[in-house]
Amino acid sequence: MKIPFFVPLLLAGCLTASGQVTDSTNGYDPIAGKLLRAGLGRPGAYGMLERLTSHAGHRLSGSAGADTAVELAKRLMEERGFSNVHLEQVMVPRWERGTTEKAFLVIPGKANIPMAVCALGGSIATPAGGITAGVVEVRSFDELEHLGTAASGKIVFFNRPMDPSLLNTFEAYERAVEQRYRGAVQGAKSGCVAALVRSMTLAIDGVPHTGGMGYQDSVKKIPAAAISTKDAEKLSALLRAGEPLRVRLTLSCRTLPDAPSANVTGEITGTEKPGEVIVVGGHLDAWDKGAGAHDDGAGCVQAIEALDLIRTLGLKPGRTIRAVMFMNEENGLRGGRGYIADPLRRSEKHIAMIESDAGGFAPRGFFVDADSAVRTQVLRWKPVMEKVNAGRLLAGRSGADISPMVAAGVPGFGLDPENHRYFDYHHSDKDTPDKVNPRELEMGAIAEALLAYMIAQEGLPAGTATRPR
Ligand SMILES: [Zn+2]
Repeated sequence: MKIPFFVPLLLAGCLTASGQVTDSTNGYDPIAGKLLRAGLGRPGAYGMLERLTSHAGHRLSGSAGADTAVELAKRLMEERGFSNVHLEQVMVPRWERGTTEKAFLVIPGKANIPMAVCALGGSIATPAGGITAGVVEVRSFDELEHLGTAASGKIVFFNRPMDPSLLNTFEAYERAVEQRYRGAVQGAKSGCVAALVRSMTLAIDGVPHTGGMGYQDSVKKIPAAAISTKDAEKLSALLRAGEPLRVRLTLSCRTLPDAPSANVTGEITGTEKPGEVIVVGGHLDAWDKGAGAHDDGAGCVQAIEALDLIRTLGLKPGRTIRAVMFMNEENGLRGGRGYIADPLRRSEKHIAMIESDAGGFAPRGFFVDADSAVRTQVLRWKPVMEKVNAGRLLAGRSGADISPMVAAGVPGFGLDPENHRYFDYHHSDKDTPDKVNPRELEMGAIAEALLAYMIAQEGLPAGTATRPR
C-alpha cells in the first residue's frame, strides 16, 4: 500500500501553463457519461476480484498462490482481447509463515492466556519451544533507549496506537508503522529477545495485522510479531497493574532463496503514438492473511476493468494505455524496480503512471505526483473528473510500485479513495471480497479509465515525459 501524504494543490483551476482560461472539459463530458453507464451497468471489476481472491487468495511473492495469480491475470487480459499480453520476469524474495504462530500470557498460578498473534513478514522463527520472557512496554524508540539495561533479556512490546484523531488514516499509519518496520532492530540494540507490536489498525478487535519488517546486517536478528489491538490493551493493562507476567512466543516462519516470478502486462495500443505509454496498475502480490481484496486485488482488477471499459465503448486512444500487475510490492518492490529496468522500456516513452493501491472504496480523486505544469493541466480536467466523483486532485505521493518510474521523472497519479475503513482490514484476515462494494470498486475503474483516456488523447506538458534509464 502506498503512503499518500498530501498537500493541497496551490494552483488555481482552469488555468493553462500560459495562464489562459480554457474550456475545462474539452468535450470529455459525454465520454465520462458513457464510462459511468457502462461501468455501473455491469459492474465488471468485482467479478474479476472474486475470481482472483478465490483462485489465489494467499499470494505472497514466490508462493504457489502468487504463481496462480500471475496466470489468472494473464488470462483475464487475454479474455478481454488486450494486445501484447505478456509476463515480464522478476526474481522475488520468498518468506513463509510456517504452521506455528502462538503467543501466551504466562502468569504464575494461572492458566496461560492465549493472544491473537501473527509473525511479521520477514521475521525469523523462534526456537521450537518458543521464547518465554518478561515484557517491557514502550511507545517510542526513545523510550526504549532510555530504559537502558532494564530492557535486556525482555520481549519489547511497542504499543503506540495509530492516532485516531487524524482525518487521514494513511497519515496515522505512517506515524505509527516504524514500530513494525524497525522494532526488531531497535529491540535487539537494547538486548531484547523478541519484539511484539500492536497491530497497525484503528479497529479495536481480536484480529492481528501483519506487514513487512526489516533487519540490519550489523544487528542481531530477533523474532517479531503483531498482536491484536484488544490483546495489546489487555497486555498493557496487566503490566500497569504490576502482574508478574511473562509472554511465550512461538513462530515457525522462514526465509527461502529468491524465486522467479513476473509482472503481467497487457494493453490497448495507441492509434497515433503507440510508443508513448500510460500505465494503469496495481500490485498482484498480497500478504498471506485474508485474501488481499482491498490490498491490492482491487487495484489490479480496476486496472484491467479501466482498459476493458475503454475497449467496450470502442474508444480509440491515441497513445497506448497499458495495464500492469506488479509483483512483490509488499516485501521487496521487485516488480516496480523490474518494470523500469526491463529492456523493453528502452524503446518506449512513458507519459504517465497511474496506480490504485489504497483500497477499493469509493474514489474521491487522485494524488498528483508531478511538477506544476502537469498539475495545472490536470486541474483543467477537474470539472469532468467531478462527473465521475473523482474531482479531488491534490498534490501527493502516487504509489509504491510506480515510484521508480515517478522518481525517473514520469508523472504519477494515485487513486485516492475514501479511507476510514482501509486499515480495519489491511494485511489481516478481514481483507476479503465481502468488504468491497462492487459499485465503489467500479467507480475507481471508471475514474482511472477517464483519466488515462484524457492523458492518452492530450499527452501531458512537454518536458515532463521522461525516458527511463
Ligand atoms: Zn498495497
